[in-house]
Amino acid sequence: MTPLRPLHFLLPAILITAQLPAKAQAVRPGPRIRTIIVDPGHGGTDQGAKGRYSTEAQLTLQMSLKLEEVLRKALPETRIVMTRTTDIFNHVKEKADIANREKGDLFVCVHVNAAPPVRHREFLHYKTVTYYKGKGSKRKKYTRKEPVYRTWTTPNPAYGTSTYVFAADRSSKKAEEFLEQPRFESDAEVMDIPDPESTEAKIMAHLWSQKFFKNSVKLGSFIEDEFVKAGRRSWGVLQRNHMGIWVLQATNMPAVLVETGYITNEEEENYLNSEEGQAQIVQSIANGVIRYKTQLENGAPVRTDSVSPVKAAPVAGR
Ligand SMILES: [Zn+2]
Repeated sequence: MTPLRPLHFLLPAILITAQLPAKAQAVRPGPRIRTIIVDPGHGGTDQGAKGRYSTEAQLTLQMSLKLEEVLRKALPETRIVMTRTTDIFNHVKEKADIANREKGDLFVCVHVNAAPPVRHREFLHYKTVTYYKGKGSKRKKYTRKEPVYRTWTTPNPAYGTSTYVFAADRSSKKAEEFLEQPRFESDAEVMDIPDPESTEAKIMAHLWSQKFFKNSVKLGSFIEDEFVKAGRRSWGVLQRNHMGIWVLQATNMPAVLVETGYITNEEEENYLNSEEGQAQIVQSIANGVIRYKTQLENGAPVRTDSVSPVKAAPVAGR
């Protein structure tokens, strides 16, 4: 009997050791959001949209730094990586490179929108215009009446939030025609990016969509939900494939671009610049991210970063 004793003694110890990692995993099944990339839109030579007294690049940096702080406190186990922390310009390719190099599980771009001024035209009066027709002796003088208009512009009243998700098969031109206010994009956002019409670019865009589209929409809808809860006007999650959001599909992770408000709307520019406004916006984005993380980690085990495109279809949750 005695020779067995050491074995009896050892066996439970081995089992316990072997079970430990499994138990730890059981607490959090499914994918872990280990790293979140926060991308303050624009910067440096590319200031983005302009308001009466502030620029988009200033606001996105202020809000993104606050978002970093809020996320760090709320999710102490998660790495928060910024694509910039000062007023510098980094190309969208560089932003995507940072996100991929840091192995992000989520890419959140913070932007501020702008809408073009509204043109107005008012009829003033008719003026008489003289013109000539024919040549030589047949040349005759004519007159005609032409309307004279006064034209002017006023700031666009558009306001509210929207979150953009890259959708490979959504033609931006057709889609934008039906959207009341198109998204503001700077020249820098579309310069030196690969030709989207090339076969390679199309394949890459489709692969990204198959892997990450559904989860990106999920995250986007959570963020927009939070904006609504905070009393903001939400234009919802907009699925587009336009060049200005190229960066989203260049990352190997679910990605959203949040338009936090219109800098061209006087009231909203003030809100975007206020401490209270920024705190509220940042909290809404953070709440959306936290809800996404919680649902993904406690829901069906889908690893968005490692599954094959076809298997990515059944996404966690409803
Ligand atoms: Zn922007």
